[in-house]
Amino acid sequence: MKQILEPTWDLSPLYADNDAWEKDFFRIRPLAEKFASYRGRLAESPAVLAEAIAAQDDFSRLAEKCYSYAHLRSDENTSNNANRARVDRLEGLFAELSPLESWFDPEVMAIDEKRMKSFLDSPELALYRRSLLELLQERKHILSDKEEALLGTLSEVMGASNKIFGILNDSDLAFGRIKGENGRTVEVTHGSYGRLVESEDREVRRRAFHRMYAAYRGKRNTFAATLDATVRRHVTMAKVRNYPSALAQALEPDRVPESVYRDLVTNVRTGLPAFYDYMELRREVMGLEKLDMYDMLNPLIPKCSREYSFDEAFELVRAALAPMGGEYLSKLDLARSQRWIDVPARKGKRSGAYSGGCYDSYPYLLLNHNGTLDSVFTLAHELGHSLHSYYSNASQPYHYADYEIFVAEVASTTNEILLSEYLLANTDDPAFRCYLLSHLANDIRSTVYRQTMFAEFELLIHELAAQGEPLTADLLSEKYYGLNRIYYGDAVEPDQDIELEWARIPHFYYNFYVYKYATGMSTALLLAKNILAGDPAKRDAYFGFLKAGDSKDVLDIMRDAGVDLSRPEPVENAVAQFGKIVGQLRKEMGR
Ligand SMILES: [Zn+2]
Repeated sequence: MKQILEPTWDLSPLYADNDAWEKDFFRIRPLAEKFASYRGRLAESPAVLAEAIAAQDDFSRLAEKCYSYAHLRSDENTSNNANRARVDRLEGLFAELSPLESWFDPEVMAIDEKRMKSFLDSPELALYRRSLLELLQERKHILSDKEEALLGTLSEVMGASNKIFGILNDSDLAFGRIKGENGRTVEVTHGSYGRLVESEDREVRRRAFHRMYAAYRGKRNTFAATLDATVRRHVTMAKVRNYPSALAQALEPDRVPESVYRDLVTNVRTGLPAFYDYMELRREVMGLEKLDMYDMLNPLIPKCSREYSFDEAFELVRAALAPMGGEYLSKLDLARSQRWIDVPARKGKRSGAYSGGCYDSYPYLLLNHNGTLDSVFTLAHELGHSLHSYYSNASQPYHYADYEIFVAEVASTTNEILLSEYLLANTDDPAFRCYLLSHLANDIRSTVYRQTMFAEFELLIHELAAQGEPLTADLLSEKYYGLNRIYYGDAVEPDQDIELEWARIPHFYYNFYVYKYATGMSTALLLAKNILAGDPAKRDAYFGFLKAGDSKDVLDIMRDAGVDLSRPEPVENAVAQFGKIVGQLRKEMGR
């Protein structure tokens, strides 16, 4: 058999060797001290403030460069102690240096308003104007020094409910064992549950589901208490800091209006009939009278058994991304010729896949390519992240290169959709087509529909808490079960235990985070459609997004790229595409 040498990444452009890294490591502290030397001076003049910001950027830019190398090296082989030691040394140093940084934001906000206004018009601060305005927006929510100091000392205590949830859920909760596939006894854990509910054997899925929720039922009052405390903290802090609501406070850093969040829920609800169709198709294919909640993740279509070498995977992804144009493809080729990618699985290598690196490095990719179709999708996904980073880094100054989480999954998801469309357009094999369609349908199900249901629940419980309603286990379960009935429709008769799902979702502790999955997927679906339409203006608009980094507000970036999230069209399009996919799937399956 011919041996295929799969490529590894080349970190030498980042640091030629460990000695070069050591030299930079010892430059970090002086840069932090230089930045700290501006303390107490920010109000002196626009030039001094600009120098201070530049000093802060110099420090964090070098710190990120050192950190990137340390963790990329460490991930190559996590059992290598010398590599791990570099990460530990940096983390120790950052902890030590953090007091040298925390003074900056309060001192900027303390600058007299009139004085700041003239600062902002000065040419010295032109580059930083946007980020300063963003920071100053918070000013109206800042309390007196004494109150801020008090809140600071209480911050650990106020985070206690999240911590208790984590310990209870991850360490103390045990689910026990069930009879798994082929009669073998298996332990139900957070890790194994995902595989068990994908089992082809309905009894295995049912047993895993009941075993898991029996454990949550036994602790449901404690879980309700941790969630209640967290939600109440969000509500109280919003009041303390003069926000109209917890939702408004959570959305402010992205400058997303509440209407975007509420309209998402309304528009996804309007699009539920397409989801009901999908559930009905599942029900028919599975030959059941009613689906249950443990019938959502077992594959409708047998997994595709085709194997792809890395070279084949790369060529496939390249062909699928051809509609992006030659410019994009030339950057994909750089990923290979400059060796951005660490491909093969190895003993000791960090598992999974990611896109990493920093402003001063290639946008490296760590993969564990195993030849499955999933790993081809992973390659497309991570290349989406890396090229987004590449273009933002190349087009923006360091200060604005880092894009926000709100847009972070858009480029990666767009690439996955383009890969799906390409594969669909180039195969006549009905089994493969069914597999691809069902893969895509499942992605939309889990991001657009499921995450929006979560988002609606999150909003509901914050509103109840704001009205002074205690979030008891009974109330949470009643509301959660009700939403499941609405979202899943008549083809599903949900097992009563699903009422406890709220207890196991860590995202409910993240403060209005999950809606970003739904907006991100809807955005990507519309962008992919625009790119495939072949209109050069729309393609250019897409590049505008890739290059924007954090230079504009996220909604403006997306609007300029052709997706206006303040309007219903992106979600309407997602729902329409979902309906089309389900229709195609139905046809391919002869139903
Ligand atoms: Zn991703």
